Amino acid sequence: MCGIVGYIGDQQAYPILIKGLHRLEYRGYDSAGVALISQSGELNVYKEKGKVVALERLCEKTDVTGTIGIAHTRWATHGEPNASNAHPHYSESRSLALVHNGIIENYKVLRLELEKNGVTFRSETDTEVLVQLVEFMMNSHHCDLYTAVQLALKNVVGAYAIAILEKSHPDTLVCARKGSPLIIGVGKSETGRPEYFLGSDATPIIEYTDKVIYLNDEEIAVMDRTGRLEITNLANVKQTPQLVTLQMNLEELEKGGYPHFMLKEIWEQPNALRTCIKGRLDRENSEVVLSGIIDNKEKFQNCRRIIICACGTSWHSALIGKYFIEEACQIPVEVEYASEFRYRNPVIFPDDVVVAVSQSGETADTLAAIQLAKEKGAFLYGICNVIGSSIARATNSGTYLHVGPEIGVASTKAFSGQVITLALLGLAIAKVRGTLDTKFYQMLVDELYQIPDKMQWTLEHNKDIDKFAERFTYCKNFLYLGRGYNYPLALEGALKLKEISYIHAEGYPAAEMKHGPIALVDAEMPVVVIAPKKGMYDKVVSNIQEIKSRSGKIISVVTEGDTVVKGMSDYCFVIPDTRDCFVPLLAVIPLQLLSYYVAIAKGCNVDQPRNLAKSVTVE
Ligand code: GLU
Repeated sequence: MCGIVGYIGDQQAYPILIKGLHRLEYRGYDSAGVALISQSGELNVYKEKGKVVALERLCEKTDVTGTIGIAHTRWATHGEPNASNAHPHYSESRSLALVHNGIIENYKVLRLELEKNGVTFRSETDTEVLVQLVEFMMNSHHCDLYTAVQLALKNVVGAYAIAILEKSHPDTLVCARKGSPLIIGVGKSETGRPEYFLGSDATPIIEYTDKVIYLNDEEIAVMDRTGRLEITNLANVKQTPQLVTLQMNLEELEKGGYPHFMLKEIWEQPNALRTCIKGRLDRENSEVVLSGIIDNKEKFQNCRRIIICACGTSWHSALIGKYFIEEACQIPVEVEYASEFRYRNPVIFPDDVVVAVSQSGETADTLAAIQLAKEKGAFLYGICNVIGSSIARATNSGTYLHVGPEIGVASTKAFSGQVITLALLGLAIAKVRGTLDTKFYQMLVDELYQIPDKMQWTLEHNKDIDKFAERFTYCKNFLYLGRGYNYPLALEGALKLKEISYIHAEGYPAAEMKHGPIALVDAEMPVVVIAPKKGMYDKVVSNIQEIKSRSGKIISVVTEGDTVVKGMSDYCFVIPDTRDCFVPLLAVIPLQLLSYYVAIAKGCNVDQPRNLAKSVTVE
């Protein structure tokens, strides 16, 4: 959620900070700001409601010089999105400026206490208590910034990634984290002198250096122009920084000729999934090779249950994963909303395997859910896309999606990457538990191998959705129906439409429709039915009849060559034939394209839909 950029070195900081904020725009935000210490020693803060370009316009007439600075895109949690609540926040004397991602849970108590001591607040945010508290500590303990940050954070309950500037120390940048990611990029400027970059993820840093340090929870770092980088924890114990090399390149972050990241990422899916299965599907021996399972064979042989924790789109892929793993491995699988699971004292046995699914690997609720499962002794398995993310580091083992950075807020390639990864997981577990007949197992492996090509076919055959999408722009509601593996897909199709076109949509198991939602069906109601010529085809055909008799508009996803459902439909999308369990990997494509083109026809900002954030790092 939201973003932090920071710089200290020989270069002018402002262009680096602004470019970094643009790179972080995909995460979703409502205001932006920047703080710089100018050549003449002023600590200047500029902030604006709205987009980063609005901040740039504001800065056109100001002094943006300086070789040290911090910047922020805010996704408001406390206090409305306006310029005074935007970050950076000054301390009362304006000698400090701070940016913050996360939520300070005990901010009310802290604020009251500081106000009693005469501190005046200028915003409604929880964040401002941090900068005021740090200044208060500096004044009352007569200590330096670093020590004051340490003292202040000991009193703070909540999640934070912060960066702070001090007017009287233009050579030093201080940052800290707990529960919200922060990365330090280590570079060398043209003069050969050291320089440091800060980012709430790697996207603002990668352009300058691939050498980074992931700050851990409760760590505070101080950097200066001489190359000093010191990290300690809240208890003042010195930490050894681990320098790692980023595996990401700049091209992956660009739009590559597509008008939007979302469309690029939809079209990238065949290749992304090829990379995802590469080295994991051994075609020659018709076998799945997942080191995360092989290295922990006994855990998966002996576990009695699998619990998958996730949020949003990841929850939908988890539900598809449940259907597959239960069928292939004959082991009970529960799928939990991480935000519910973490607070309801769930029953977790030490022989449970708890799987966390999260694109960013930073989803606050999912992270908290696995921490709870860890306390109860469960084995933790992570399925994330972002390498080195908090969930990836907090789990015992796991599998990366390897689908490349996903920038569009509405998840597309990460969803299909999660579905195929969960299928790989199911096959690998089935192998160690011996629950699948060898021939059937091999046939599934072979079919999975063909999925990227079939996805490409599906993309090519559904290109013209843009031609009729605008007919739906005036709709107020959509219904999405599917059975079996396609029920979670119906949920995902509905979510995608809601997220980017702001049209209300509901996903339902097709047969459940008559228990309620059928009351909504009339001539104005488009009903998207996922109706491949597979297992429950005849039953879905009956469900379509029921909608048609109530004049509903049918938009169907059918198997190539199907004439029956096609004949009953107002609009029809085709997918190639595949096994029941893999249909969602193909049928998701027309659903993604439908929501994309409806949103475009409505003039919506598909890459940055209102109120949404890409990685939800607050609970
Ligand atoms: N809680 C802070 C605020 O509302 C920070 C939100 C963010 O992470 O952007 O200002």
